[in-house]
Amino acid sequence: MIDFLKEARKIEPEIIETRRQIHRRPELAYKEKATSKLVAEKLRSFGLEVRTGIGGTGVLGILRGLRKGGVVGLRADMDALPIEEMADVEFRSKEKGVMHACGHDTHVAMLLGTAKLLADHREDLAGIVKFFFQPAEEHGGRGGAKPMIQEGVMENPKVDFVFGLHIVGDVESGVIAFRGGPTMAAPDSFEIRITGRGGHGAYPQHTIDPIYVAAQLIIALIRTLDEFTRKRAKAKVSEVAKGVCRAFGAKAEIEFEKDAYPVMVNDEKVTERAKNIVRKLPGTRVKLMALQLGGEDFSRFLHEAPGTFYFLGTKNPAKGCIYNNHSPRFKVDEDVLKFGTASLAQLATEFTNLKS
Ligand SMILES: [Zn+2]
Ligand SMILES: [Zn+2]
Repeated sequence: MIDFLKEARKIEPEIIETRRQIHRRPELAYKEKATSKLVAEKLRSFGLEVRTGIGGTGVLGILRGLRKGGVVGLRADMDALPIEEMADVEFRSKEKGVMHACGHDTHVAMLLGTAKLLADHREDLAGIVKFFFQPAEEHGGRGGAKPMIQEGVMENPKVDFVFGLHIVGDVESGVIAFRGGPTMAAPDSFEIRITGRGGHGAYPQHTIDPIYVAAQLIIALIRTLDEFTRKRAKAKVSEVAKGVCRAFGAKAEIEFEKDAYPVMVNDEKVTERAKNIVRKLPGTRVKLMALQLGGEDFSRFLHEAPGTFYFLGTKNPAKGCIYNNHSPRFKVDEDVLKFGTASLAQLATEFTNLKS
């Protein structure tokens, strides 16, 4: 069996260098032009088939093994956030007001590392591995997973299993965390328009102040963890909004964002198997991931094929890596990237074999 962690250690400087290169030049949702160009160039240099411009700026890489087997999809997201970087790193963002504060730069670098390792071992690979470099994860209901799926990345050949990995600031450095079943929330957002009645500020008894009504109504978000509760919560928000407004004589109109990300449901069996596979990597610590109220459009890939979305910890106080994702001070412990690369390679190798 190939020791992917040993292999990942050999290319570790390259993974880190790629990550820093992307970190210096972060690009917002659907503007990931330089990033996708870099991805496509690297994939071609490893000998993969490459298709670009998928679902906007997305890139698909295809690696065909020399033996027959199944099809595994691996996904990394590429977009940065509209945040001014304050992290204490020498390779700080050169783009004003834009930062890789969610670690998607590491996702791209780790998955490119995986593509290289698997390409180097094509003769041992049964089946096909598809690499999805997705635009715009941080884009509400208009994330890049859906347009990529609509352009057929999960078909021809059909993907049997799909995996995604996210780096997280609140899990200990180097720990790989899994969770079966519902894992991340559906982050629905909505807009409520309240119509009151204007008038003189000195005679509030003759007016209906929509700001006052709104203050009674502020519900920052609903994030739900199953589709049934989600439907009920949406109905409840409408009911409460209308009720409060009626009580003040104001009018409420509620509009939910269309097509918000669905709940992330990891396949229980695949997750269990994946956990046991990753546990075999020497020096790896595996644990159970806590339920997350954040949303992720990888959930759309999981509607197309069974798989799991798992997490790589990067919290390391000794290195100042103590801030969470989306913080302007978010700092990654780069020593963990090799674990991400090795785990994805191992999962792809073993899950393509399942169908051989
Ligand atoms: Zn994020
Ligand atoms: Zn993210």
